[in-house]
Amino acid sequence: MPKVGILACESVTNEMNCVMIGCLGNLRSRQGSFKDYPEEEPLDLVGIIHCGGCPTAVGTDRIWQKVQALVDYGIDSIHLSSCLVQLCPFKDAFIETIRKGYPDLKVVEGTHPFHDEEAFKTGVKELISQRVVTPQRMNDLVFKRIKLPPDEMEGS
Ligand code: SF4
Repeated sequence: MPKVGILACESVTNEMNCVMIGCLGNLRSRQGSFKDYPEEEPLDLVGIIHCGGCPTAVGTDRIWQKVQALVDYGIDSIHLSSCLVQLCPFKDAFIETIRKGYPDLKVVEGTHPFHDEEAFKTGVKELISQRVVTPQRMNDLVFKRIKLPPDEMEGS
């Protein structure tokens, strides 16, 4: 039974609240980047870990310990999530670091296909800039401009 791990982008999963529905759905249905595993063998998703977040511009060595955490459980392959493949400027450096540290580990680029890669990138751009709907921040509380739900307003 192939033992699989997934390495995902920290920003997408943590800041944008991605629940990895596309990655896990494709894994369950053996589609996308999971279609090449032998059909007769069930896939064992051992675990998911994140890159550790930017700034990765200072170096990609940190990825070693992230991958090691999955290697400890005997993974045969590691999939870089499709968001990481599409968005991360350090993708190739990550792959080089992983291959150097774990020459026996199969590295797969991606987990699921995108219907429209450009629309995905445009959407992510808005998610990180939040220009259309501005979320409230600590400064809104400090400057007493925070908006509260009606039931909270009644008691204040
Ligand atoms: S290093 Fe790449 S994968 Fe990690 S948070 Fe930054 S952009 Fe995302």
